[in-house]
Amino acid sequence: MKIKVLGCHGGELPRHRTTCFLIDRKLTIDGGAITAALELDEILEIDDIFLTHSHFDHVKDVPLMTDLLVGRREKPVVVHGPAETMEAMDKDVFNNRTWPDFRVIPTPEKPVIAFDSIPVYEPVTCQGLRIRAVPVHHPVYSVGYIVEGREGAVAFSGDTGPTEELWRAINTTPDLKAVFLEVSFPSTLQWLADVSGHLTPRTVMSELAKLDRRGAKIYLYHLKPAVIDEVKAEIKALRKEYLHVCELDEVYSIR
Ligand SMILES: [Zn+2]
Ligand SMILES: [Zn+2]
Repeated sequence: MKIKVLGCHGGELPRHRTTCFLIDRKLTIDGGAITAALELDEILEIDDIFLTHSHFDHVKDVPLMTDLLVGRREKPVVVHGPAETMEAMDKDVFNNRTWPDFRVIPTPEKPVIAFDSIPVYEPVTCQGLRIRAVPVHHPVYSVGYIVEGREGAVAFSGDTGPTEELWRAINTTPDLKAVFLEVSFPSTLQWLADVSGHLTPRTVMSELAKLDRRGAKIYLYHLKPAVIDEVKAEIKALRKEYLHVCELDEVYSIR
């Protein structure tokens, strides 16, 4: 499994892109940086998008990619997510006010995009991967994902404050290779992280105490651009060799 960082920040500025990870060129976790990061021919290779939640920084390039696809795809790109997230995509994004409903464009028979509500806890199979959504703790309904392939398992936390179920699910997943874990604010803004359902380096460490890590690498992402230097300095001061802060366009080979 090859994972490319299309976006790893909790906000946008030049040289900072919102959350999006590309797996084996075909599938993304979140849609915060598709059109912001990829050329058209690369965008055309994406068949599936798994959303963690409906916040703008995780979905923004899904509508933006759709009009690039008209006349260029045989089958729709399928956007997967829990029912609550897909309801927001239906009512709040592709509602013919915020954006046209590309589920019937260019024709209802051959649209460029389709929605798929997935269950939580139950695995679905997509692109040869077994993918499970597990609820996490955030102001809107949100999930993390556990992705299992032939070369091992990788977990993505999505946006979350301190949580339990995801760690339990990861701990019982065999062959864990990597966990992509959010960290948004410095510990000096712990109160803000707590009320907004996010982590600081301090709560990252208390969350990792719940993980049976088994040598897996921890990739940190979703740093807020306005406080990124402070968050990075705090992580560095922890001196944990298994912590890696994601940078744009990095590619990780999971095996
Ligand atoms: Zn976010
Ligand atoms: Zn969020």
